[in-house]
Amino acid sequence: MIHNFNAGPSILPKEVFEEASKSILNFNNTGLSILEIGHRTPLFEPVMQEARALVKELMSLDDEHEVLFLHGGATTQFMQVPMNLLNENEAAAYTDTGAWAGKAIKEAKLFGHVEVIGSSKEDKYTTIPKNINVPPTAAYLHITTNETIAGTQWHNLPYDCGVPLVADMSSDILSRQLDFNKFDLIYAGAQKNMGAAGVNLVVVNKNILGKVNRSIPTILDYRNHIKEGSMLNTPPVFAIYVVMLTLRWLKNKGGVVAIEKENDAKAKLFYETLDALPVFKTPVAVEDRSKMNAVFIIDNPELEKEFLEICKANGMVGIKGHRSVGGFRVSMYNALPIDSVIALTDLMKHFAQQHG
Ligand SMILES: *Cc1c(COP(=O)(O)O)cnc(C)c1O
Repeated sequence: MIHNFNAGPSILPKEVFEEASKSILNFNNTGLSILEIGHRTPLFEPVMQEARALVKELMSLDDEHEVLFLHGGATTQFMQVPMNLLNENEAAAYTDTGAWAGKAIKEAKLFGHVEVIGSSKEDKYTTIPKNINVPPTAAYLHITTNETIAGTQWHNLPYDCGVPLVADMSSDILSRQLDFNKFDLIYAGAQKNMGAAGVNLVVVNKNILGKVNRSIPTILDYRNHIKEGSMLNTPPVFAIYVVMLTLRWLKNKGGVVAIEKENDAKAKLFYETLDALPVFKTPVAVEDRSKMNAVFIIDNPELEKEFLEICKANGMVGIKGHRSVGGFRVSMYNALPIDSVIALTDLMKHFAQQHG
């Protein structure tokens, strides 16, 4: 039995792997592989339509919000967002909550000014900034709703901040109920919580587009993708197919409401166990802890090594912390069954008994 705590690419539902495997050999009983059909065919077009419709439905999006599946990871969006939304003489407001926010800030500076209006850098990114003040002149506010490496998450979202709200939701997309219509642009690489690597989900309020005065390359202009129904060029067909299957699975489970309950239960069990065992420590502020990625340490390199080995011997993969921070990281994405968290927390209790 394998327990997959990988941070990304990460665990997906078994049903999705089974269905996707079948479709590589024989897609919808056509005798053709999903990998060898045109994207503008009656075979693939319904896949794109269903994937977009499922996003709209699962996020309860209004008609102003368009759903796109674009190439590249979230890293592409770090530059595509400011290219489409930020004039050279304007400033965009960013929050600096960790490695991912930092990368978004770096790219935005290529297109205009960046004002960092909230930062947890001084806290070594163990908190989320509170009481932020957004200048009304900012082109938009950018937040990273879940910092995958630091293990922090925004729990009080800055809705109604007075300017368009942009969010990198790569590692907590569709994991909890949010008022998605209050965001003007949401992007997420699919490989953390909704599918295979190679595609980005972009949800954009079309009213915020067309306001910059630079020339935007065709493929990078959101308006062109909207016009072409996310089929401007050959989309990453297989990655989109896997997203569609994962969204179907989520819908059948009861959607975001149901998955949030499961995610809450998993996070509660994990953090309660962690807090009860003094051998494990986490630097992350209690109120800002991520329900998707829990980071923790053991204050002893020998014991850390031992715990990692025990995890490995018990089929737990992906527990090692990000190379930049060390320690451990446990990712509890939508598809991770609570049984895996039970198995891990049992192991932690056993370990603590021996070393407490
Ligand atoms: C993984 C991740 C990214 C980068 O995604 P790529 O698809 O590798 O470009 C960006 N932001 C967050 C929050 C992430 O977790």
